[in-house]
Amino acid sequence: MALVVQKYGGTSVANTNRIKRVAKRVIERKKQGDDIVVVLSAMAGQTNYLIDLALEMQPQPDKREMDVLLSTGEQVTIALFSMAVKNLGFDAESFLGFQIPIETDTAHTKARIKNIPTDKLKRALKQGKIPVVAGFQGIDASGSITTLGRGGSDTTAVAVAVALNADVCEIYTDVDGVYTTDPNICPSARKIEKISYEEMLEMASLGAKVLEIRSVEFAMRYNMPLHVRSSFTNSPGTLVVKEDKSMEDVLVSAVTYSRDEARITVKKVPDKPGIAAALFSPISEANIVVDMIIQNTREGNLTDMTFTVPKNDLEQALEIVKKTAEKIGAEAVVGDKNIAKVSIVGVGMRNHAGVASKMFDILARHGINILMISTSEIKVSCVIDEKFTELAVRALHEGFGLDKEGFSEG
Ligand code: ADP
Ligand code: ASP
Ligand code: MG
Repeated sequence: MALVVQKYGGTSVANTNRIKRVAKRVIERKKQGDDIVVVLSAMAGQTNYLIDLALEMQPQPDKREMDVLLSTGEQVTIALFSMAVKNLGFDAESFLGFQIPIETDTAHTKARIKNIPTDKLKRALKQGKIPVVAGFQGIDASGSITTLGRGGSDTTAVAVAVALNADVCEIYTDVDGVYTTDPNICPSARKIEKISYEEMLEMASLGAKVLEIRSVEFAMRYNMPLHVRSSFTNSPGTLVVKEDKSMEDVLVSAVTYSRDEARITVKKVPDKPGIAAALFSPISEANIVVDMIIQNTREGNLTDMTFTVPKNDLEQALEIVKKTAEKIGAEAVVGDKNIAKVSIVGVGMRNHAGVASKMFDILARHGINILMISTSEIKVSCVIDEKFTELAVRALHEGFGLDKEGFSEG
């Protein structure tokens, strides 16, 4: 008998019929003898709807109250799901974050989980019930409700699985696994049977929304196997596990894209020691994460600094940078939202040269100009004009042989 934590995302619980269907699936599995703990998201679209309501009240909604509001989405689904289970003659018990309690820090809207006591979940399991946990939410030391950041139900599921020492954490979603690229924009994308935590972590941080980054970090740290599957079919999905030797045979495992970043250029900065510190310290003090940075030397002792920040933080970052630019005597500050980042990911890259240049070549052959580049051991990313995103993803997917069966030797 296995202990399985199953997480169902927003599309899987988008309406009452789907909730009833998920309840049937869970019960079928329970009948086979496994112990199941269920973690649910809010109905698809609900969290966005609640954010829109908040924005009608306050242009920058109070974060504590935002968490009180956003946590209601998951409250609805866990209650409805538990009713559906009971209606089928089985027993379920719903748990909000504070009832378990899922203890977090106080960083409202992006809180981190610190501890999850398991006594209540274990008691419910012992009583033959299906515990149903609200994803995405917790409680801080002062008793305030917190949320974990968008997509945070994945993190709840993995953390609950780790706390319970479950055998596997199954993530049910609207695609039947992790694909070589987003199947919704590249029809020739293929399902990956098995992928390493490291690659999955890169993919998640480079825009593949199928798993939330922190859930992969958690799983990797505690070696919790993840199984990404469809809630609409019974086909096996993708296993996210420790790297094994065979994974290195594949040069490029996946192509990802992100439209979530924006670019800031500071023009004609005097090129002297301390300038980078003067520019970037106030940005990091405001908790804004700078991703790529490039510096282009101009004539004389002037330079242009270009860097990327999350699109949601662009306005705040521009305000900060403009103040600094004035102080350090830069000529102008320009923001650009119309960029995208496309990336290739693969542990096989560690042992191969020439992967980056092949990527640049593929983009060039499709007439796509590269604005910025960054690399690490297992990925290469290029910033391009947003309007070329889909073209670039498809060209790279084909160029690295990902739409064919078997390996790609580049
Ligand atoms: P859920 O609501 O179940 O959490 P998400 O929308 O967060 O689902 O994640 C699933 C979506 O992730 C898919 O519909 C797909 O468009 C997107 N996605 C992006 N990249 C990939 C990829 N490489 N493989 C699978 N899905 C991907
Ligand atoms: N409901 C939250 C969101 O939409 C959390 C989740 O679905 O994972 O971001
Ligand atoms: Mg998700």
